[in-house]
Amino acid sequence: MTSWSGGVMGEFAEVPTLHWLEMFAMAAVNYDAPLAVELKLIAGLTVKSAEPLARYTSMKIGGPADYFIDVENEAALANLLRALSRHRENFCLLGNGSNVLISDRGVRGAVIHLAGEFKQAQWREEDDTPRVDVGAACAVAQLVRQAARKGYSGLEFAEGIPGSVGGALFMNAGAFGSEFEKVVDQVEAITPGGEPLRLARAQMTFSYRDSHLPEGTIVTRVGLRLHKQESAEVTAKVRELVGKRKSSQPSGFPNSGSMFRNPPGDYAGRLIEAAGLKGERIGQAQISERHANFIVNHGGAKADDVRRLMELARSEVRKQFGVELVAEVRLLGDWSAN
Ligand SMILES: Cc1cc2nc3c(=O)[nH]c(=O)nc-3n(C[C@H](O)[C@H](O)[C@H](O)COP(=O)(O)OP(=O)(O)OC[C@H]3O[C@@H](n4cnc5c(N)ncnc54)[C@H](O)[C@@H]3O)c2cc1C
Repeated sequence: MTSWSGGVMGEFAEVPTLHWLEMFAMAAVNYDAPLAVELKLIAGLTVKSAEPLARYTSMKIGGPADYFIDVENEAALANLLRALSRHRENFCLLGNGSNVLISDRGVRGAVIHLAGEFKQAQWREEDDTPRVDVGAACAVAQLVRQAARKGYSGLEFAEGIPGSVGGALFMNAGAFGSEFEKVVDQVEAITPGGEPLRLARAQMTFSYRDSHLPEGTIVTRVGLRLHKQESAEVTAKVRELVGKRKSSQPSGFPNSGSMFRNPPGDYAGRLIEAAGLKGERIGQAQISERHANFIVNHGGAKADDVRRLMELARSEVRKQFGVELVAEVRLLGDWSAN
């Protein structure tokens, strides 16, 4: 929304098109603070202030981030993390924003968004086994298509998951009986203090929609191991799974995929539907009429509306069936007033 070059409050106050919420967020940040000065000196960063986050999420919801920082490469990321740590500034990671609900009040501190070199993928074959080392910012969809073209199988399940590789690894994203943990070979990451970390598959623990990475760890690259198959067969499998996805999931309205994890032996969508909540609406947010584990944004929905629908689903399912639903979607940002 606003670049560093316009960096003093007086100038911001004269910009006529700003939304009042963005003005409020700007007032909370001192752009001449030592952190801001330091960030300007780090090569490989693009820093925006008071950047509205709705445009970076599949649900099209989310207030402004104090700092929204695109990071081009690993050196820039390490320098950024050290600066944030020295200044005791909070940060969070945003991948493709397809599994988050960001507060209407936005995010205090820094939102880190990987770009540049983090989008690259290097393919190779070792002992007849296809492998790819892929940056965390690469889109899962792009990787799936590249694999299919090359005749490499193992990622077909991920077609239609609109995330980044980093987000998919962090969430252990999965579908149709498979998940990322099944193809992961190793992970490169960086600690919140800026130290590099390399984890072999055997050092990692995955479970349903969770990679159990230590708090604040940023995934930078992921090594995947696939297997060879005829390209036409891989492509046919991808098409079949896309068809299944289209027939069961809502389309047309922005959403964040499944809002709740499936409880053991059951489906969150089935329970929410059985609780009579399909189609329930608060403001512009609605529990999908197609699939009750999705909440859709009819245009201009507030994060608070979505969260209230989630609380309604959770309390009705608990009351009627004694089942505790656990959110799959990650809540990011400032929820202090809730
Ligand atoms: C239409 C639709 C269909 C979907 N279908 C599926 C599905 O079939 N299966 C499934 O599992 N999910 C599905 N999802 C949910 C979502 O796409 C996945 O969870 C995806 O992997 C999230 O990736 P992302 O890059 O969007 O992460 P984000 O939403 O940006 O972030 C999710 C979490 O990961 C963290 N994160 C992101 N990048 C990194 C990183 N580099 N290092 C550390 N932490 C990071 C974030 O801080 C956040 O906590 C669907 C979503 C939509 C909208």
